[in-house]
Formats: sequence, structure tokens, C-alpha cells
Amino acid sequence: MKVVYHPRYLEVYAGDPAAKAGRIESILREVSPHYELVTPEPASIEDVKLAHTEWHISEIKGMSHVYEVALLAAGGAIKAAELAMSGETAFGLIRPPGHHASPGSCWGFCFFNNMAISVAKLRQEGRIKRAVILDFDLHYGDGTDNIFSGVADVVYHHPEDRNNKEFVAGIERFLEKQKADIIAVSAGFDRGVEDWGGLLTTEDYQGIGRLVKGFSERVCQGRRYGVLEGGYNHDVLGKNVKAFLDGMS
Ligand SMILES: [Zn+2]
Repeated sequence: MKVVYHPRYLEVYAGDPAAKAGRIESILREVSPHYELVTPEPASIEDVKLAHTEWHISEIKGMSHVYEVALLAAGGAIKAAELAMSGETAFGLIRPPGHHASPGSCWGFCFFNNMAISVAKLRQEGRIKRAVILDFDLHYGDGTDNIFSGVADVVYHHPEDRNNKEFVAGIERFLEKQKADIIAVSAGFDRGVEDWGGLLTTEDYQGIGRLVKGFSERVCQGRRYGVLEGGYNHDVLGKNVKAFLDGMS
């Protein structure tokens, strides 16, 4: 398991909760003693165009500070995907998040859709055909869904059960029916029992990680990676991310 991280992810680039100081630090404290950190490069404009319109890209470019870290976040997802393809499980400890970024618009603290860019790039390069994207963030990843709408070979799944045991069991049932060349996880921790959603325990996050690992080993040569989406209670964010990584590795 390698963790993709860049010091610029620590920067406060906006006034929203995803950019709040201390967020990435709280995760880094928990995971950096256990997992090797890898530094990404910014995504290229050509990469970003795989998921977004030129108009949208120019809008984000107008916010110069956001633009630079958003390109680095997309680059972090690409790096995590490349590691997964090389047989190394990876997690993008990236910011800003991306799953609310659609081809021509964005909201919810997102600017570029990191996950969609990373999956689209693997597909464009012919390295995979079929991908499963599991998004366990509290919020529906409308951006990811929009970007892959009509693309039969990319399956987007957002579980919504109101009971934590059912939530995890539902993921297991979903995965039993899937075929893919890679599994990619939009890992948002805002459904945590001590976060906005008030549902999933630290053990649940570890259990989801184990399901992702098991699926990848059965179905897609072990290729698996995740990227950070939401999660806002800095007191518990680190241990929940660590539990997910422990399960996935
Ligand atoms: Zn969220």
C-alpha cells in the first residue's frame, strides 16, 4: 500500500470545509508511520479534458490558487491508478475532492473530478476496459455519474443503506455481481458515526477495505485504489482512513 501525497495538499485554497487547515494533517499523522508516501505530478490539461469541457477548465483556471492544487489532486488520483495497475495498492490522500465535478460544472468543494480523470485516462490509454467505481461518501457523486453516463463499461455505485451492517453487506452483494479490470474507490468519510452522516464505525471502514481487496483479488488481478473525497471531523478522520487502508492492504 502506497499513499499518494503532496505538501501542497496542506494549503488552505478556499474557505470551505474540504480546504480547512488540519484536515490532511489529521490523516497524515495516522497513516504516514505505516505506509510509504509517494509524490504525484500535476495532471496535464489533456488529462483533465478527458472528463471536463474546455469552458469548465478555463473557469477553474480563473481561480489560480484553486487551479494549481486541483491539478495536483487530479494528478494524485492518476498516480494512485498507475500504482494500482503496476500491482501496488494505492490511496490518493488528495485535496480538493472531486466527485461533485461534472463535465461542465462543479459544486460541493469540488473542482476537477479526480476519480473520473484517473479512470478515463486508463481507459483512453487502452490499459483497462471495464472499471467499477465504489463511492461510499455520504453524498452522491453526481459529477462522476454524469461524466460516465452512457458508458456501459464504467459502473458507478453509491450505497445508501441507513443501517451500518446493511450498508457493508450491501456493498458485498453489489460486488459479487461485478466484473471489472480495476476497482476504484471514492472514499469519503463523512458518513462516519462521529461525522455528518452518523452511520459507519471505524470497523465498518476496515470491513469495506477488506471487501475491496477481496473483490480485486478474485476479479481484477488485485488492481485497487482509492482517493479521498469528504470527511470533516478531524478528530476521527485519521483513524477511519487508516482503518480503510488497513482493510484494503
Ligand atoms: Zn460528502
